[in-house]
Amino acid sequence: MKYNNVILISVDALRADYLHCFEDLFNIKCLNYKTNSTWTLPAHLEMLASKKCNKSIKGDIKKLKNFVKNDKTIATDIKEKLGWKTRASVGGGYMDKYFGWGNDWDKWDNQERDWKGEEICTHNNEFLFIHTYYLHNWWHDFPKYRDVQKKKMLYKYKIKCKKCYEKRLLKFIKNLRWIKKTSPNTLICLTADHGESLGENNQFTHGVDIRSDVIYHIPLMFRTPDKKQKEVLRPIMAIELKDILLKIIL
Ligand SMILES: [Zn+2]
Repeated sequence: MKYNNVILISVDALRADYLHCFEDLFNIKCLNYKTNSTWTLPAHLEMLASKKCNKSIKGDIKKLKNFVKNDKTIATDIKEKLGWKTRASVGGGYMDKYFGWGNDWDKWDNQERDWKGEEICTHNNEFLFIHTYYLHNWWHDFPKYRDVQKKKMLYKYKIKCKKCYEKRLLKFIKNLRWIKKTSPNTLICLTADHGESLGENNQFTHGVDIRSDVIYHIPLMFRTPDKKQKEVLRPIMAIELKDILLKIIL
């Protein structure tokens, strides 16, 4: 077997246009990776359970909760095909057990809500899923958010938001340096559930069904033992990730 363990990191609201910032850490980059969802719950259903939610279901929390509860995630495949342990360390909110998550995982725990990329303990024969809100809802730092609807402030606010997002992102990446020290037998995959609008369409959010590419186009990258640099150009959808990961691991 090629790998002793796998770490899948989901950085909530990470935009694809910052993929180049991770150059040192990941050698395979998928440049045309997209999700079909604009917010955390359905987006992770796509990512972890290959579940595509149609438009009417995407906003129906009750139905989504039911899917999460009953659908098999990648954890079931990992356990059945490899006999590994499966563990998740998530940021709560829509990733909380309350929404049905964790049924087919050995462990599904909430950790610090804004995990900043610090190293966390890994074990052999384990599939570890980490989810963080570190870049999510960062605009709440600005008390006058509502005022940006006034045209006068919009331009200034766009610049301020972008700066703030980038500052947080760089801090996060700095804390991911431990990735360089991981064993060659560890496969690490980093992705996002959806992107974030930083002023595109005059919006500063996600979760709304705007046809803005910045919400749907998300990063996907891998750190493999051979460290061979590769750019994958073929279009890939988030519902394919589960099968892609299993194909690499098995
Ligand atoms: Zn999210």
